[in-house]
Amino acid sequence: MQKNPSKEAEKDATAGQSKPRQRAAAPKVVRIPSAITVAQLAELLDASAIDVMKHLMRAGIMANINQAIDFETASAVAPLFGYRAAPLEKAPKVPKNAEDDEEENKALLKTRPPIVTILGHVDHGKTTLLDAIRKTKVAEHEAGGITQRIGAYQTEYNDNIISFLDTPGHEAFTAMRARGAEATDVAVLVVAADDGVMPQTVEAINHVKEANVPIVVAINKTDLPDADIERVHRQLSENGLLIEAWGGDVIAVSVSAKTGEGVDDLLENILVVAEVADLKANPDRAAKGVVIEASLDKSRGPVATVLVKTGTLHVGDYLLAGSTWGRVKALIDYRGQRIRMATPSMPAEVLGLNQLPSAGDSFQVVPSDKEARTLAEESQRQRESRQKVSLNEVFNRIRAGESKELNLVIKADTQGSVEALRDSLSRLSTDETQVRIIHTGSGSISDSDVFLAVASNAIILGFNISIESGAKRLAEADGVEVRLYSLIYHLLEDIANALQGLVEPTMKDMVEGHATVRAIFSRGRQTKIAGVYVTDGRVLRNASARVLRDGQVVYDGQITSLRHFKDDVREIATGLECGIGLAGFNDFQEDDVLEIHRLQEAQS
Ligand code: GDP
Repeated sequence: MQKNPSKEAEKDATAGQSKPRQRAAAPKVVRIPSAITVAQLAELLDASAIDVMKHLMRAGIMANINQAIDFETASAVAPLFGYRAAPLEKAPKVPKNAEDDEEENKALLKTRPPIVTILGHVDHGKTTLLDAIRKTKVAEHEAGGITQRIGAYQTEYNDNIISFLDTPGHEAFTAMRARGAEATDVAVLVVAADDGVMPQTVEAINHVKEANVPIVVAINKTDLPDADIERVHRQLSENGLLIEAWGGDVIAVSVSAKTGEGVDDLLENILVVAEVADLKANPDRAAKGVVIEASLDKSRGPVATVLVKTGTLHVGDYLLAGSTWGRVKALIDYRGQRIRMATPSMPAEVLGLNQLPSAGDSFQVVPSDKEARTLAEESQRQRESRQKVSLNEVFNRIRAGESKELNLVIKADTQGSVEALRDSLSRLSTDETQVRIIHTGSGSISDSDVFLAVASNAIILGFNISIESGAKRLAEADGVEVRLYSLIYHLLEDIANALQGLVEPTMKDMVEGHATVRAIFSRGRQTKIAGVYVTDGRVLRNASARVLRDGQVVYDGQITSLRHFKDDVREIATGLECGIGLAGFNDFQEDDVLEIHRLQEAQS
């Protein structure tokens, strides 16, 4: 679908995005019925529905693409597109919104504000832009203009509300998706005009595309003398984002987060994209949404910032959030004010949960605390048995005929090797099984690669590079397979074998660490828990432990619980204490040594 930009389009690009498309010729007459939908009007005016909506919005009319406007309004817009409107004698019936009849409860849906995440390369101005939006729009209405950071805030433009997630960057965005939370309706991609498209810009584009979220590009730092907007347009198109002025459908807005120039235009365009997406929710049902941040407060206990996606969250509701639960004791908005309820797309701090949920956990209101507790326990169990993404699993699924795809994230030492690998791997696809390359990049494997792999069920392949230690821990905790190679031949051979359902990985038992039993506790009537001190390595929740007594193995079994104070944890490091439960074993004695071990696929 990519077109080569014409000279004319280039001129258009420099003229700015949101200007009406000027036509020099005398206005043609267009016959318009007494009521017409925005889409139909756009067609008659030979314009894009987005442009029509923009002009309506400027006139203070918020109409989505399927909404009808009257003749008067339509005739006011027509001249902006070089047409003169004349009434059509016999007005055709405007089609009733076809969706209305489909489902009864659709009638209960109301438009909700868009939820926006800001992404882009480091230092391109994401934080400054978030602050600029916050300052110009939020502070105006607040006494003292002080807002607290709770991970998200809301702003207003032309009486329309927009919610912004306050953690810029694709790590947070993809971390949420990795947990199944689709929290973003519109992604704003910040590109500094002096620096252009950089590696993390490309990463962000891939992450957002994979999530199928609409993008608005904010070309930032346009106040700088060496700003080169044209270059950014070209680079974006080279990366599959064809902006409007080049014949594509991606809106790009020039801004300066520093001076505030263009910020209004950006907000307006976010609203246009939101209109097209037609975001709706039923505010009158039990709330559902997503946790965007959580922290432990000394005096207030677990505090979670949640974003309501549908329904209304009230103080007093019983809440299930991931595998935590509780009764909402208080709700606090981004201005630090206590509120009684939070409506769709609204962020709020929630007090009253029994433990800390994770960012990206989804939450829902349930009828009783009994239900909340039961569901929380169920969710914990499911989390533990979550399917792992490994070449072995893929092999099994392909062999069982369940899977037809192998998703890959590829990282290599140079862009040259990346291209070579992409090429060779793509050629391994067969009629039955496909290789799908989700993301490629040069440099070591980072957290964000792991998040992307979790979100898209992918395996990570590294060629001549290493994995950052944080990313390694994350991959282990989330069960993502990372395979490192130094010979392209080995890499291709493994993948080719997996695709043909041939690979049988070699498993190796690896010792992860040791812990000494210092005390024994009872949990319930039957179960004994060992209070231990980790002497070396680490203890992992998904590992096994050999119980060593005077150098002899007296038992070997799966770890069933791992707690640090009252929290269930996935990992405990050297020098810390924790409580361990073992499947089928209750005879711990003081000074027993637990050798933590687990089976791992041997890497080539
Ligand atoms: P982030 O890493 O993307 O969050 O980038 P920051 O918001 O921290 O900005 C990086 C640097 O660029 C800071 O020194 C900002 O002051 C500067 N900066 C951000 N936006 C603009 C802008 O529009 N114009 C200019 N001249 N500098 C900017």
